[in-house]
Amino acid sequence: MDKARSYMKALKCRECGHEYPLEATHVCEFDFGPLEVVYDYDQIQGRLTRDLIESRPQSMWRYRELLPIAGEPTVGAQVGYTPLIRAERLARRLGVKELWIKNDAVNYPTLSFKDRVVSVALSRARELGFKTVACASTGNLANSVAANAAAAGMASYVFIPYDLEQGKVLNSLVYGARVIGIRGHYDEVNRLCAEIAGKYGWAFVNVNMRPYYAEGSKSMGFEIQEQLGWRVPAHTVVCMASGSLLTKIHKSYQEFSKLGLVPSTPWKIHGAQATGCNPISAAQKAGLDFFKPVKPNTIAKSLAIGTPADGFYALKVMKETGGASDDVTDDEIREGIRMLAECEGIFAETAGGVTVGVAKKLIASGKIPADEAVVLCITGNGLKTLDAVVGHAGEPREIRPSLREFEGVLAQDHPDLVAS
Ligand SMILES: *Cc1c(COP(=O)(O)O)cnc(C)c1O
Repeated sequence: MDKARSYMKALKCRECGHEYPLEATHVCEFDFGPLEVVYDYDQIQGRLTRDLIESRPQSMWRYRELLPIAGEPTVGAQVGYTPLIRAERLARRLGVKELWIKNDAVNYPTLSFKDRVVSVALSRARELGFKTVACASTGNLANSVAANAAAAGMASYVFIPYDLEQGKVLNSLVYGARVIGIRGHYDEVNRLCAEIAGKYGWAFVNVNMRPYYAEGSKSMGFEIQEQLGWRVPAHTVVCMASGSLLTKIHKSYQEFSKLGLVPSTPWKIHGAQATGCNPISAAQKAGLDFFKPVKPNTIAKSLAIGTPADGFYALKVMKETGGASDDVTDDEIREGIRMLAECEGIFAETAGGVTVGVAKKLIASGKIPADEAVVLCITGNGLKTLDAVVGHAGEPREIRPSLREFEGVLAQDHPDLVAS
């Protein structure tokens, strides 16, 4: 890759605008507002072109000028550039003309969009001299920190609610990470991690490294725009846990528009949650600017954050873009998983079922019009949340190894094919 140069300028409070040096810190000392990375867009403007991006390897790092590291990425060089597929069959099923799936269920290496944020956070953590990395996670983040830390030779501690899906737990243990199961829900895990981060000085990817970590999510939006042929989709449906991904997809569209990489056309960002943990969608539907914390109870465990750190900003993005929000029950989540699998051959985790289920509702209600382009962000892989679908996808029909028995089964489906 061409010579690395950094365009990061500072960390800046989203509330009061106070600036901080580019260290491992995440809240403003004055008003406790979250810090965000600011870039030198004037410098980037002259340099980052479509041609330059297209000439680079197919990973999230082809947009490196807009990602917050100082040198070359040292963790996760292969992450990203997942498929964006035209979903014709699902489009017919949902009743829209132009539907696309951005498929991070096959992201490298741990099959969720979290590999994007982790490769940024760990590359930056190394630049800042950290040897131990950690996270508070609803599952996928733990998997990604464990795997990427292992590959980078860093020690890792991952903190999760004790009752996660077995697939998510095993997918952290296998890489040799120290896995700590907390008897409590995510918000309690997160609170404990804030204490530990302060005391031990580790790089907690979503605590003290959060300003860098969160920027990694923009790459999903950069790829959507490039893969659509350098344009912004009119509608994007994003599932929400903390709400961070949703805000960063929006920021990616703003940045490409501002830099002239895509035409400035309007877009709406829609947020999806599970009914069993819907602080953000409930507030959006009630027309409120602030959410009320909830106690999660849903099969979409990766989205089960009752006090979402970026909920306020996610509400703002939906309001500013004219986006909508809704939530779906456990049965509707399973139905969403089945629809995506049956129509497109993609097995998403529960979060994907949430996205598809909410898209269905927004299309049916006309909030997403049938003749405008829609992108659904699929963020995780169904093989990690088998618990949620076991017993809901039917059973194989078991027979002895005999042609007669097989034809007995076949006759139930296609009597015409079986000669009696
Ligand atoms: C973490 C996660 C999200 C959303 O994360 P935010 O906190 O809203 O950025 C979405 N889908 C899956 C599968 C996740 O693991």
